[in-house]
Amino acid sequence: MANVRLSSISKIYPGDVHAVNDVSLEITDGEFIVLVGPSGCGKSTTLRMIAGLESITSGDLFIDDRKVNSLAARDRDIAMVFQDYALYPHMNVEKNLSFGLMRRRRYPSRLRSIFSGVYRKNRAAEQQDIHDRIRRSADVLGLKDLLNRHPRELSGGQRQRVALGRAIVRDPSVFLLDEPLSNLDAKLRGEMRTELRRLHRQLGATMVHVTHDQEEAMTLGDRLLVMKDGVVQQCGPPAQLYEQPANRFVASFIGTPEMNFIEGVIEDGSVFKADGDVRIQLPKDRWPSLSVGQQVTLGIRPEHLELASDGDAMFRGEADVVEQLGDRTDVILANDHRRLTARIASGSGLGEGDSASLRADLPQAHLFSTDEDGHRIATNRRHNQQTSDVQD
Ligand code: ADP
Repeated sequence: MANVRLSSISKIYPGDVHAVNDVSLEITDGEFIVLVGPSGCGKSTTLRMIAGLESITSGDLFIDDRKVNSLAARDRDIAMVFQDYALYPHMNVEKNLSFGLMRRRRYPSRLRSIFSGVYRKNRAAEQQDIHDRIRRSADVLGLKDLLNRHPRELSGGQRQRVALGRAIVRDPSVFLLDEPLSNLDAKLRGEMRTELRRLHRQLGATMVHVTHDQEEAMTLGDRLLVMKDGVVQQCGPPAQLYEQPANRFVASFIGTPEMNFIEGVIEDGSVFKADGDVRIQLPKDRWPSLSVGQQVTLGIRPEHLELASDGDAMFRGEADVVEQLGDRTDVILANDHRRLTARIASGSGLGEGDSASLRADLPQAHLFSTDEDGHRIATNRRHNQQTSDVQD
């Protein structure tokens, strides 16, 4: 297996399309990294540059500390799995698994006739090796009983497993996965996620996975690299991105339903004030850099809002949407000024059209700057520790 290092990598496509801007990332041996972000943010281009399928405009790429910028894709010892399985329809599963290997190892026919004796011996050993590899990867992926089937006789999930199997038989240093689960229905996607995690554990492989689905990214990755417009927004383990988002973009991208944002201003005594009679006493000393009159955006996740009695409510409105999800209920409360989403415990009896009030678990709230980068305003570490709150 291998480590992969991107050092200030950029990609400019013809027409001055800046697809990837100055991305640096160190992927350690055996790590599962997920590149995540909305469509068009440059994830696939980054992956394709690692694969060698796309040239690098500037910056350096290292695999196992060896610079590979100009190394051909086939010489990089990587295997890539695509969204549309790309299986050969006329071959059965076994042939699909072995095909890449046979092609990679085929000798020119001229050499074959000159060294026919040696060739036959080598060929037999090679076929045994391929056979063993196929058995092993079929074992790992639960494909043993399907080896004789053709792709059309397989379910979507089984086809995707064969596509993964084709990567595994090659025993590459690095697996690159480009939205491999996107074509599957929700249930299968869930199953395949579990399978991918297990596979990763079992193989101990370095994996780089691309998805636009934040939930998939959160469940799969040891670390996530969040991108927007070709620029890295934040890189870290899932919990860090959720608890300490670097900016408003990451805060809204990670987590479902999306974080609520309220624009307001800081008043004397650490009071956050916003349109619609919102006055929230912020925990004192939590944001030491705040100044009176400063414009800020308060961010609070739906799961950190709960129904409240009028006395300690920060927000009053009418339930516009009530979604019963079994163990919990998602509610959108609206008034003339804003709409807030709250994830509350089920059984509250709240129905659409009912009036309700919400209060916030304020130690879980974030403040963001109102300028374009929307960075999260730093909190006081000491304060965090005393209140066993999340730490910066
Ligand atoms: P993602 O994988 O995050 O959806 P991509 O890496 O595919 O994003 O694309 C990033 C940006 O580069 C997009 O604006 C896309 O339109 C552009 N792009 C991708 N491939 C090409 C190409 N071959 N030529 C020109 N522009 C491209």
